[in-house]
Amino acid sequence: MIKSALRLQKHYLLPLLGKPIPKLLFAAGTIDRNDVDIARSCLSGNASYSGDTIKEFEQTFAQWNGSAFAFSFISGRTALSACIDALGLQPGDEVIIPGYTCIVVQNAFTFVGVHVIHCDIELDTYGPDYHDVIKKVTPKTKAIVLHHLYGLIARDYEAIIRFAKENNIVVIEDCAHALGAAYKGKKAGNLGDLAFYSFEHSKVMSTFTGGMAVTSNPELAAKLKQVQTHTPFLSPEKEKNALSGLLYDYYVIKQAEGPWKQELYRLKYGRRYLATTSPMEVQGQKPAGYMAKMPPSLAAIGLNQLKKLDDYNRERRKNAALWDAWVTRHGFIPPKVIDHSEPVFLRYPVLVNEAMKKNTSWAKALGFHLGVWFVTPVHPSTVEVKDCPNALEAVRRCVNFPTLGIDPILIKKDNI
Ligand SMILES: *Cc1c(COP(=O)(O)O)cnc(C)c1O
Repeated sequence: MIKSALRLQKHYLLPLLGKPIPKLLFAAGTIDRNDVDIARSCLSGNASYSGDTIKEFEQTFAQWNGSAFAFSFISGRTALSACIDALGLQPGDEVIIPGYTCIVVQNAFTFVGVHVIHCDIELDTYGPDYHDVIKKVTPKTKAIVLHHLYGLIARDYEAIIRFAKENNIVVIEDCAHALGAAYKGKKAGNLGDLAFYSFEHSKVMSTFTGGMAVTSNPELAAKLKQVQTHTPFLSPEKEKNALSGLLYDYYVIKQAEGPWKQELYRLKYGRRYLATTSPMEVQGQKPAGYMAKMPPSLAAIGLNQLKKLDDYNRERRKNAALWDAWVTRHGFIPPKVIDHSEPVFLRYPVLVNEAMKKNTSWAKALGFHLGVWFVTPVHPSTVEVKDCPNALEAVRRCVNFPTLGIDPILIKKDNI
């Protein structure tokens, strides 16, 4: 309460002092004027999209991604919940998820009574560790969540898939960071049984809030279709919040056009917390209206984002190369890009020393806010993980750099 009052005061004081509000480019990297135009025309009622737009978005996505079927939902977490529902996982079943993930991934399972076991990650790619996965499998294990964190392909991708197939365990790929990453020429999310993607505003592309579940298995696709049919659309009020949130992201976070203008937009569009994890969810509780699907307006923005995605991903990779040079110059180790893989670099992760993660003021010289996720193993909750030493080390030492909206001149200059 006091903290948010202070923050508010700071936002009003800075422009009065003639100082710019700092850019918070953790979000909205891919939101442009043409996305804003769509959001505006939907808000004013000048444009109306229909179920056809949703279909077009899903089909275009599936084709682009190389998946046979795609089903849109209102977030990555609800797309995951749809996958869990489609698989028919039951209370008492077990799932193995990385001990370095978001609470919402864990919640999707615990909401339906599935018992969660954490596996360790490995510290080069931050993906699940094959040997630890095997160690934690029991006769009750029905599924494994395999993530490609920060957009890096997990080192043990193929090994885990092979092991799961041999043991009749389903693999769900968490591609929330990995939209457009590829392995052996195939986009991430096509080796496992099911995969989900997130279009939340800090992810590879943004519909402010949104997600997609994909599969190439016709039976699972039929089940996903059924789940989607029975899921309500996002409420009109929340839809309006999401569209305003997107305008906020563009004008306040991305453009940061000057303090006064920024303040005007801040007042006009407000700050919408729809997409971030609610305090209830952090506590492991299911919020009202949790399960929802994407309305046509957000699908229209999704379609527009898809058109630009390859260009943005190219830029992310180019900027990651700048970070490679920076990291090497400063004596850190670049993240591991496994053979035959093409990461997408949602963020550029690096292990620094603990003091540098605790006090991030050193990054200010580079002109951006340093990413520190994850700050707990099941971010940002206080849920503890057992026997995951690498995950705990990543929590202590992993920071991440943005790959869009950065100033190459600052990175090349040796000013820290
Ligand atoms: C963001 C995220 C999710 C969930 O996506 P939402 O769209 O926010 O529900 C899942 N897994 C990881 C690793 C994420 O970063």
